[in-house]
Amino acid sequence: MTMKTRICDLLKMKDTVGVHPPQQKMTAGAVIESTQLPDIVTLMMKQHSGAPAKLLVKQGDVVKTGQLIAEATAFISAPVHATLSGEVKRISSVVHPLTGELTTAVTIVSDGADDWVETVMVDPDGLSREEIIARVQRAGVVGLGGGGFPTYIKLQPPADKPIHTVIANGAECEPYITADTRLMIENPERVVAGLQIVMRVMKAEQAYIAIEENKPEAIARLRAYLAQLDLPHVHLFVLKACYPMGEAAVLIREVLGVEVPEGGRARDVGVLVQNVGTIAAIYDAVACGKPLVERVMTITGMVAKPKNLLVRFGTTASHLIALCGGVKPGGDELLFGGPMLGIAQLSYDSPVTKSVNCVLVKQSIMKEERNCVRCARCITVCPMGLMPLMFYNYVRKTIYDRLAEYRLETCMECGSCAYVCPAKIPLVSYIRIGKDELWKQTTDK
Ligand code: SF4
Ligand code: SF4
Repeated sequence: MTMKTRICDLLKMKDTVGVHPPQQKMTAGAVIESTQLPDIVTLMMKQHSGAPAKLLVKQGDVVKTGQLIAEATAFISAPVHATLSGEVKRISSVVHPLTGELTTAVTIVSDGADDWVETVMVDPDGLSREEIIARVQRAGVVGLGGGGFPTYIKLQPPADKPIHTVIANGAECEPYITADTRLMIENPERVVAGLQIVMRVMKAEQAYIAIEENKPEAIARLRAYLAQLDLPHVHLFVLKACYPMGEAAVLIREVLGVEVPEGGRARDVGVLVQNVGTIAAIYDAVACGKPLVERVMTITGMVAKPKNLLVRFGTTASHLIALCGGVKPGGDELLFGGPMLGIAQLSYDSPVTKSVNCVLVKQSIMKEERNCVRCARCITVCPMGLMPLMFYNYVRKTIYDRLAEYRLETCMECGSCAYVCPAKIPLVSYIRIGKDELWKQTTDK
């Protein structure tokens, strides 16, 4: 064992890793509101990780809400459905709000009717494992915690990686965001029913619904709801409040006391971690036959009336912010996501996608980067026991070969290191550059 590895392992064993940014959960008590539907939506053909979906409609076509308008093109891909009824007005190439890449998008102008395709309710207990997975795939369900990974794939682990435990991730550790918290308070039945479907598909022995201790209303609601049911294998787990508690490896360590091996995944230790919003979407897809066309989002920060809204994908940020009374004086930065992981937007016309859990307006803060003072704060907070200052050092000196030695690939880009850095070094940007360089070296070989 090297000295580096020993330091990192010791740090991982510490009680507290991660950071404690101000919570700013100003919408924690805001009941989920159904939005006034927009007149127009712009739907990206890539609302998920993997290959973009292939268009099935053309300009002038009339579509219903929930109609399939683009099909998955690869194993890692997901279909896209119309989120309004109306007419396909335009097919164009637009800048993707999360990746910045030019992406094909479909613009639908509403007919004002919100006329849905027919959906059929079924009893999930009467469906086979294969039928459940097919319904999740057809509905375009992807990870709603931010990753956008197609969910049907996670429901099919390799035969040599059986899943014994499902963790429903209700940590919602990022400041400002309360979408999952409100979902658990207002719709515990969808979360628990979805969890039971997932447990059955995975043949899991047990499940945990993991919620941070600073969400007492959600904890009380789930506890009371579970007490009404006879589910001896479904447990509530109250987590310490700390960012990034919701990252899979951190969650598994906290709930089960098990370390995901370096470079490994949750399934390597027999665990499936699924965001609570995704679990509710699985229930909707399987039991109600409902395609994924909307989700709960928190619209917050420097807006007049921060809210939790049920939002159709493709709605613009400007429409959502208008529903919240507009931008307050001083708000000059728009993010999709929270302050730790959010992606800055160039325009208020950016449309939201399946992966967007928050629209945040804030005041931009100019941060002048200074030299590293070797304080080691970045090391002490890293939940993966990494040494972020070494990534910064080697990327700055373009000595990319040393990055793997310091386990750059293990970094989950949570941003905790950058948050505490007194020199205001944008460590995650350096980490991303390093990962790109390592990836180029691998593909050049
Ligand atoms: S926190 Fe910032 S200044 Fe301190 S060691 Fe890490 S990179 Fe350097
Ligand atoms: S961004 Fe990466 S290196 Fe920084 S704290 Fe998070 S996991 Fe550690």
